[in-house]
Amino acid sequence: MMGQQGGGQDRLFYSFNLDDHVPQDHLLRGVDRFLDLSELRQHLAPFYSHTGRPSVDPELMIRMLLVGYCFGIRSERRLCEEVHLNLAYRWFCRLGLEDKVPDHSSFSKNRHGRFRESDVFRYLFESVVQRCMAEGLVRGEGFAIDASIIKADANRTRGVPGEDGVDWNDPKLATRAVHEYLQGLDETSQVGAIPKNISLTDPAARWTAAPGSPAFFAYSTNYLVDVNAGIIVDVEATSAHRTEEIESTKTMIERVEERFDLKPNRLIGDTAYGTAPMLGWLVQDKQIEPHIPVWDKTERGDGSLGRSAFTFDAKRDRYTCPNGKYLQTTGQTTNADTVLYRSSTYDCQNCALKPQCCPNTPQRKIARSIHEAARDIARTIASTDTYRQSRNDRKKVEVLFAHLKRVLRLDRLRLRGRTGARDEFLLAATAQNLRRMAKWLIPKMPQADLASA
Ligand code: SF4
Repeated sequence: MMGQQGGGQDRLFYSFNLDDHVPQDHLLRGVDRFLDLSELRQHLAPFYSHTGRPSVDPELMIRMLLVGYCFGIRSERRLCEEVHLNLAYRWFCRLGLEDKVPDHSSFSKNRHGRFRESDVFRYLFESVVQRCMAEGLVRGEGFAIDASIIKADANRTRGVPGEDGVDWNDPKLATRAVHEYLQGLDETSQVGAIPKNISLTDPAARWTAAPGSPAFFAYSTNYLVDVNAGIIVDVEATSAHRTEEIESTKTMIERVEERFDLKPNRLIGDTAYGTAPMLGWLVQDKQIEPHIPVWDKTERGDGSLGRSAFTFDAKRDRYTCPNGKYLQTTGQTTNADTVLYRSSTYDCQNCALKPQCCPNTPQRKIARSIHEAARDIARTIASTDTYRQSRNDRKKVEVLFAHLKRVLRLDRLRLRGRTGARDEFLLAATAQNLRRMAKWLIPKMPQADLASA
């Protein structure tokens, strides 16, 4: 017999406990267990007036935003609808069944106002990292670094060639993102290279493209990850440009050391991070082992004699060529932070190896980086077993980026400007760390217990 549901929705009184209706193994229960917002109000207090109408509770807004970033709900309007309808979301946000969900417009006001001024998302991110450390998930032995490009909220058709110049005084361009961009230029007195294409909606976004695909405006999210459990210990928003991404490594390593007193023994990265100045900084300034392939352009692909055919004698500060002759230096440093070593014209002119060594010049020159000792250390490390382990560990950052884009659906930003990108990347990294703690530290309940829970 076909059953029919009784129409019981007009009951006046319910005995209803929201907690009973959230499954014991729901992800938000785990997230809630590791999220401590007890000092949030104190952190935000200086940014609220003592008089006037009470605002929406900031803890409620932060909890709602975390729901959005944990479950890839990218629109604030949709987030409000989902929290209104979903019992687990209501439970996590400490809302009763009949409590009103804030309007989506409150988010915009707070995200661009008090939350940004108070840097509340960094405060939140760092308090979650501290919890990860307290739970024993961060060892501080090895960190991995990488960057991922995220599309900006800037239409490709709203870009103009950088060389054409833009009249930023045009009232039609008076937006928050443009104002922030111009303020940034003023503060840094930045001139720099003229960008190929500049966005009129988000000028700080960088025109970029992967090989073989159309260009777009983007930012980069840079992760510094502890490889023990894949916890993100720092995150930094930069424009989608290699130089800025690499420089952010220094910012993050220094910040993590200052905030959490953590400095890794080894740093893992891809070849982009293997530039001579970066290796020099890691080895000489920070005493961190670079588990990074060396960025090396000294070998030649045309069969002629490359750098490796010459032996360096550190004690006498000279190279010996394959013919047993010396390449000496005056010790003067070039603009590219290298020291030049030259052979003697006299030695080379009668040498049988000259056609393979220096066919078009009277003598052989070798440019040696002032960071060559650090490069040599990186080369030595690259032949060890620990390095092979490091190559596997590096995949943990790649997995986090794939998770960020596929599960958290952060493949395009919703906020504009560098600060918008920073806020979104911090929230997403916070959500990833909270999810990681919830999944790693809460043992799976047996099916029988789940049924009775
Ligand atoms: S050409 Fe000059 S530098 Fe090169 S192998 Fe001969 S002597 Fe040495």
